[in-house]
Amino acid sequence: MTLRLTNTLTRRVEEFKPIETGKVSIYCCGVTVYDLCHLGHARSYIAWDVLRRYLRWSGYAVTFVQNYTDIDDKILNRASEEGTSMEEVSERNIDAFVADMGRLNILPADRMPRATRSLDAIRTLISELEAKGAAYSADGDVYFAVMKHAGYGKLSGRDLEQQQDNAAGRVASAEEARKQHPFDFALWKGAKPGEPSFSSPWGQGRPGWHIECSAMVREELGETIDIHLGGADLVFPHHENEIAQSEAATGKELAHYWLHNGMVNVGGQKMSKSLGNFTTIRALLDSGVSPMTLRLFTLQAHYRKPLDFTAEALEAAATGWKGLNVALGLTVGTTRSQSELPVPLQEARKRFAAAMDDDLNTSAALAVLFELAKPLRGLANRIERGDASASSELEQASSQQQLALLLELAAVVGLQHEPQETAGATGGLEDRAIEAQIEARRAAKAAKDFAAADQIRNDLKAQGIELIDKPGGITEWLRS
Ligand SMILES: [Zn+2]
Repeated sequence: MTLRLTNTLTRRVEEFKPIETGKVSIYCCGVTVYDLCHLGHARSYIAWDVLRRYLRWSGYAVTFVQNYTDIDDKILNRASEEGTSMEEVSERNIDAFVADMGRLNILPADRMPRATRSLDAIRTLISELEAKGAAYSADGDVYFAVMKHAGYGKLSGRDLEQQQDNAAGRVASAEEARKQHPFDFALWKGAKPGEPSFSSPWGQGRPGWHIECSAMVREELGETIDIHLGGADLVFPHHENEIAQSEAATGKELAHYWLHNGMVNVGGQKMSKSLGNFTTIRALLDSGVSPMTLRLFTLQAHYRKPLDFTAEALEAAATGWKGLNVALGLTVGTTRSQSELPVPLQEARKRFAAAMDDDLNTSAALAVLFELAKPLRGLANRIERGDASASSELEQASSQQQLALLLELAAVVGLQHEPQETAGATGGLEDRAIEAQIEARRAAKAAKDFAAADQIRNDLKAQGIELIDKPGGITEWLRS
């Protein structure tokens, strides 16, 4: 049983072998923090969260680093539109990123370096490249010279000479005119008037996008790492350029495995701002789609394939999740047997691992979860109806072992029980708003203003929210 992964670098499915036994170092390209995260981010970061959880479950000590790009034209443009600063835009979107990833049950990275806090490492790397003749300065900018680096194009399969011919005859921009080859890219950009800038041996300016990842990988994880992650849209030029910079500087391979996730389509079309089908994670979850429904939906497709969002597909995922959620909501009792797993459960565990080992075949792994959940869901429904024999069946060792295995494997793909009120496919009022109303009603009752308390109950009822008062002053609620 060995994990096999599709390596973009070799274009093959390869057996995963870490540099150091029992340890895995992973770098994942993070977000440019100028806006809220969208469905493409959800898809990508859920996939890599599952890789990380699976490696941990398999016994590896995983170090996962993901950066924040907090200096970029998009952030500067946003700041000038808003009349705020680059720092304000970045901080706000970093907070939003943390909140959105948390809702999706994506584990926070072990370290999250920021470009603006990694400037020493960036400047050092650029100086090394310059000293080796792999970079040249021109009018306050510094460029990487792709022609000087044998092996440029090995990740993406681009051909430098071919591209030279294509570029010939076009009118060049000022930046293009400064470059020795059209694929040369900026390591350092000279400051423009009015923009935030940092000091450097090449004058005031700021780093290019690609160099920050090369610098952070080396600073956080070393010269060669096990796995480098990103979306398929990053293969060229971003990852190609990361490889060129790092390998030109160190003479060592940057990463042994390069994994890329497929893109997201909405209703059959590529998701983009100009098409107006660009959905943020926040907007989708606030519309009533539960976080675990979104997670289940993305994991039903293989991470390398395009993922097509449609209302129907999401609705189907919501139905699937409902069944799984009922079983995951059962409690592991005290009678759980310490003895070995019965053979059918051992087999289920093996099939789950075999699916995940097969280049993270999450849809096959989910099938094992559904199979384990099925009888438990039946028990849960009978318990719900007040069937006492179902409660004692659940207490039996075999049921308890089945439930414990289900909970264990669900956690490997990051699925966890959601309380009923967030598990619906659609909804109006946000949970927070409902809780606030319940609190207001409690306060009204405490003040003996029963008319106000009844008004709140009736208002919520009109919006499809049923309140159930339980002993001890506890109020539960249901969407009707
Ligand atoms: Zn990167």
